[in-house]
Amino acid sequence: MKQIRTHNLGYPRIGAGRELKKATEQYWKGKIRLEELERTGRQLRIENWQKQEDAGIDLIPTNDFSFYDQVLDTSLLLGNIPARFGWDGAETNAETAFLVARGQSRGADDGEGCGCSAVSTYASEMTKWFDTNYHYIVPEFNEKTNFRLSSTKIFEEFHEAKELGYRAKPVLLGPVSYLALGKVHDSKRKDFDRLELLDDLVGVYEKIISLLADEGAEWIQLDEPVLALDLDEGQRRALSYSYGRLKKAAGNTKLLVATYFGPLRDNLADFLNLPVDGLHYDVVRGGEEVTELIEKFPAGKTLSLGVVDGRNIWKNDFEKSLGILLPAVEAIGVERLWIAPSCSLLHVPVTLKSEKKIESDLANWLAFADEKLDEVTTLGRVISGEVESKALEENRNAQRERLASERIHNGKVKARMSFIIPADAKRSSDFPVRQEKQREKLGLPLFPITTIGSFPQTAEVRAARAQWRKGTLSDQDYDRFLEEETRKCVEFQDSIGIDMPVHGEFERNDMVEYFGEQLEGFAFTANGWVQSYGSRCVKPPIIFGDVRRMKPMTVRWAEFAQTLTKKPLKGMLTGPVTILQWSFVRNDQPRDETTRQIALAIRDEVRDLEAAGIAAIQIDEPAIREGLPLRRADWDEYLAWAVHAFRLSSSGVKDTTQIHTHMCYSDFNDIISAVADLDADVITIETSRSNMELLDAFVDFKYPNEIGPGVYDIHSPRVPSVEEMERLLKRAAVLIPEENLWVNPDCGLKTRGWEEVRGSLINMVTATKNLRSRRKVEA
Ligand code: GLN
Ligand code: ZN
Repeated sequence: MKQIRTHNLGYPRIGAGRELKKATEQYWKGKIRLEELERTGRQLRIENWQKQEDAGIDLIPTNDFSFYDQVLDTSLLLGNIPARFGWDGAETNAETAFLVARGQSRGADDGEGCGCSAVSTYASEMTKWFDTNYHYIVPEFNEKTNFRLSSTKIFEEFHEAKELGYRAKPVLLGPVSYLALGKVHDSKRKDFDRLELLDDLVGVYEKIISLLADEGAEWIQLDEPVLALDLDEGQRRALSYSYGRLKKAAGNTKLLVATYFGPLRDNLADFLNLPVDGLHYDVVRGGEEVTELIEKFPAGKTLSLGVVDGRNIWKNDFEKSLGILLPAVEAIGVERLWIAPSCSLLHVPVTLKSEKKIESDLANWLAFADEKLDEVTTLGRVISGEVESKALEENRNAQRERLASERIHNGKVKARMSFIIPADAKRSSDFPVRQEKQREKLGLPLFPITTIGSFPQTAEVRAARAQWRKGTLSDQDYDRFLEEETRKCVEFQDSIGIDMPVHGEFERNDMVEYFGEQLEGFAFTANGWVQSYGSRCVKPPIIFGDVRRMKPMTVRWAEFAQTLTKKPLKGMLTGPVTILQWSFVRNDQPRDETTRQIALAIRDEVRDLEAAGIAAIQIDEPAIREGLPLRRADWDEYLAWAVHAFRLSSSGVKDTTQIHTHMCYSDFNDIISAVADLDADVITIETSRSNMELLDAFVDFKYPNEIGPGVYDIHSPRVPSVEEMERLLKRAAVLIPEENLWVNPDCGLKTRGWEEVRGSLINMVTATKNLRSRRKVEA
């Protein structure tokens, strides 16, 4: 049989040892020059291309590299740089990217300019890339936006790869997704529709495509992940219109449009009818739809099937993939079928090779980016008729082992799951009853003052933890150190008049990892870094098996802290949805099932805290909103199980125990009724930056329980004044029934320094006291 083609959509750019992060931060600190940073970039690109070539990938992506973010690179390519940056229209480079992303240009003082006169302004906003944990820089549009080819990056990188002999395929974000992912900013016209910009935008894309064609590109990949979202008529027309023009501009060069992250559903016909040469489809997320897709696939086009999961770290099930690929070859023909990962490999760690500590059975179930490339080419060889009996057998054995492993399947957990009844997810009494009992028990003043949990994770705290992990600080000494930090923290809160103190979270590295490390069913990598935004990388835990709590996880610190104060201390936990959302999750059972297992573990912890005399317990769920499915039609189902999981974790306590939750964002309009369904006694949220405007959702909806809208922005080192916070509080007190109003910062204080924290909290307490006494006078 003829050889089937393989390709890749994108490769992680950070480097196996996070070389890009390190070099970028060196550059920001002024320790290396731009040329040096660029050299690191070039080295990484070449290494990555070579790896893909060695794996046997036929078409290797270029322009998937970025010093900061690929969407931002697209804005630079198109010359769409917001006016406030004072860009002079010259060619853009990495410095321009840093300026837009960070609001400051470090090059300003040493001659490495970026073509922009603004040295410091507010950065462009950042938001989540679909439902991943990657964040992109949001393009800004208004009626004055115009586009002009302004970067040579895409051409240079293609050229660079070609010169070195790689079969390069330039990759870029398509025009319709680019428009959809941005936001209208600074527009003077209420009726401004960003699609008005399409014509001009496609003009620049035509230029880019035809230049790449002149350079000899055989294929160009245009990513249109909006095809996995709900599209309106305008967007559908924009897709066929844009690609009609781009196809013409491409001449003999072929265009591949890629969609990923979800099924196409009502967008299937729009996708299939795109006037291009090839289409890439995410089989992992598309699931059930693939048979229909193949049946309807138009003659003459190439189909790329993304069968290897680019979003998760599990070894591919070859039998399953071949079950899709073989009939596809049958229907479409080997010449017109390609094999690929489902999406860019940006979302998985680089290589399993550096993971020496993962137990061998678990390691044998995993595949990171490099291993995924091997999977793609192995599948390719099987399809092409090469004998791969050893690879197939090994793969089959790994799947079989995983299916049966006792490390994954815990009879006790499964039994407990089957006994969950509706009453488990319901408090014994309704909120008004609980509220009265809690008031009596806690005896808090009006406008009770609390914080979100963490206090500064100083260099000293981090150093002590690192030493303890290395074994140079004994368990006992580390414990004593933590006791001391906790004691200082609680005493401080008492001394300034915080009504509900916390222990400070000094023992925690990260709000998910800390719990994962103590739960059965979780594993941790040594080097499994994934880019989150810019130079920031995260190392998500792997949830591989049934989750079980082995022993209390936080009681020791809550109990200790409570001995230090007469005030009711608030215990701190991370919620089940957030733990799920920020981990790599097992793919052998539905996500909701895994979440319920975590919820049961948290439920046990909540009960143990209660039994230890902790009267208030906060279960943080900052990730509940970002877990929303991409399609509106799927929201209700998700929200139902997410809310249920939270309630399962929080409902096992007496009426007198006060359950708090915290979410660190402010846009609740869409999900306010689900938030109310959580039935937490108190919710703390972010609102200070919006001047309490974002309380609207809670006001319109008449949120029934108690609420603490953050009165100061912990993301900034600035110490807010008493007057400022008093003003915000007064505003909140108009919008929310006074007796339900709490006072607290926006989020945890772990990234701040003690000095700012001291100043800010003292001012916050003063503002509250002022408000309390004013109210007395009025009464
Ligand atoms: N309790 C956590 C803290 O204070 C909450 C953090 C978060 O919401 N992201 O750090
Ligand atoms: Zn927060």
